[in-house]
Amino acid sequence: MSYTEEIRNLQETDKKFIWHPFTQMKDWVAEKPLIIIEGRDCFLKDIHGKWYIDGVSSLWVNVHGHRRKEVDDAIRQQLDKIAHSTLLGLSNAPSIKLAEKLIELSPKSSDIDTQYPSLTKVFYSDNGSTSVEVALKMAFQYWKHKGIKEKKSFLSLKNAYHGDTIGAVSVGGIDIFHEIFEPLLFKTFKSPSPYCYRCEFGETYPECSLHCLAVMQDILNQDADKIAAVIVEPMVQGAGGMIVYPDFYLKGVRELCDKYNILLIADEVATGFGRTGKMFACEHEQISPDLLCLSKGITNGYLPLAATITTEEIFNVFLGEYSELKTFFHGHSYTGNPLACSAAVACLDIFEKDETLKNLQPKISLLQKRLNDFSKLKHVGEARNKGFMTGIELVKDKDTKEPYPLEAKIGWKVIHKAREMGVIIRPLGNVIVIMPPLCISEENLIQLLDVIEKSIIFATEEGK
Ligand SMILES: *Cc1c(COP(=O)(O)O)cnc(C)c1O
Repeated sequence: MSYTEEIRNLQETDKKFIWHPFTQMKDWVAEKPLIIIEGRDCFLKDIHGKWYIDGVSSLWVNVHGHRRKEVDDAIRQQLDKIAHSTLLGLSNAPSIKLAEKLIELSPKSSDIDTQYPSLTKVFYSDNGSTSVEVALKMAFQYWKHKGIKEKKSFLSLKNAYHGDTIGAVSVGGIDIFHEIFEPLLFKTFKSPSPYCYRCEFGETYPECSLHCLAVMQDILNQDADKIAAVIVEPMVQGAGGMIVYPDFYLKGVRELCDKYNILLIADEVATGFGRTGKMFACEHEQISPDLLCLSKGITNGYLPLAATITTEEIFNVFLGEYSELKTFFHGHSYTGNPLACSAAVACLDIFEKDETLKNLQPKISLLQKRLNDFSKLKHVGEARNKGFMTGIELVKDKDTKEPYPLEAKIGWKVIHKAREMGVIIRPLGNVIVIMPPLCISEENLIQLLDVIEKSIIFATEEGK
């Protein structure tokens, strides 16, 4: 078979056998699938040999680049020992080393007088959604063991995204993803999204004095005795459209949780591991949650792994005689997989060795400067970022903030144009996401931003 035939064959076989996630397959089969065969640093190579900038870090997971030697080596070395053994009743060296490192790194409150808990125990699973399921079940069972049976609901935010399994969807708040499953979901309390650009009260920060937080307080005032935990994505609602919180909102949520005796679950699946410019987004407001969910960047985007990290207080409540059945009955086949944990240890070591966070700061400034220029474009409603999490919200009419209708497929038009110019990105509706690996060079970052700017102008002003 010639190489051209082989490519055609792969493309046809993909269409024949694969059902792609979050993809309208009618559109997919009408096009030629882009097949990736290689990666290096912040670049991806397709089957035709064309290279692209990986502008969304392979769906927000890559941190230090593809084919990072240290991570490759760590996995190879572990492969020579053992690929997998279970954490149910046994342990393994990489998962132990990683747990110690995660606890060392986990967000600490800088305020010595604070009541904020510190995190001491790591529970592994394999993806962001399961790390959230674990947190929800732990919070729920915690109150059961404490003898407070009424606390069995959760408070979550509109526009929240916590994953696609049923529990995670129940605490989600994105109508277009979540509405269809409504009959399957458990009921939760929903608080407004701190989405200043489209404030549901029509107010502006800081004159609003965080009206959205006041609504959360009202709910808690009324129903705190029914609520086990509040769950939020710290500082940025990711899949909801890269919605950046106003200052003091997150700290306010922590204070409300303390005041009303409710656990705080911080879902840092997207924001963790340097994405927002600090190791964890909670550090921006010097808070620490009772349960912390981590995944995505944890293995440098190499292998599926997640962790739910919690406090001594919560852990202790599950201790008891075997027959008391206080055990946390949850676990997955691949929990604490040694290959994934070795990749994660290597990934965390690189943060130190490369001074990743320090080197990121000038790139964040560069990005921010360019976003100011983006905001001046005719159809850019808002260009917002927290560190290296960026969203450019396109609008049909800048003055009225009228969104583009779904049929306009405006996000897709932008990313198709960008693809022609050697950049891979993926939109969230009308929001163009820019989330390259943290290791991207300034030169490549400028290249990426140039292409995205041209693509936005093309899709919104020229190529209509
Ligand atoms: C991606 C994401 C999840 C779900 O992670 P999966 O690995 O896709 O299951 C959960 N929470 C947040 C904040 C995310 O961004």
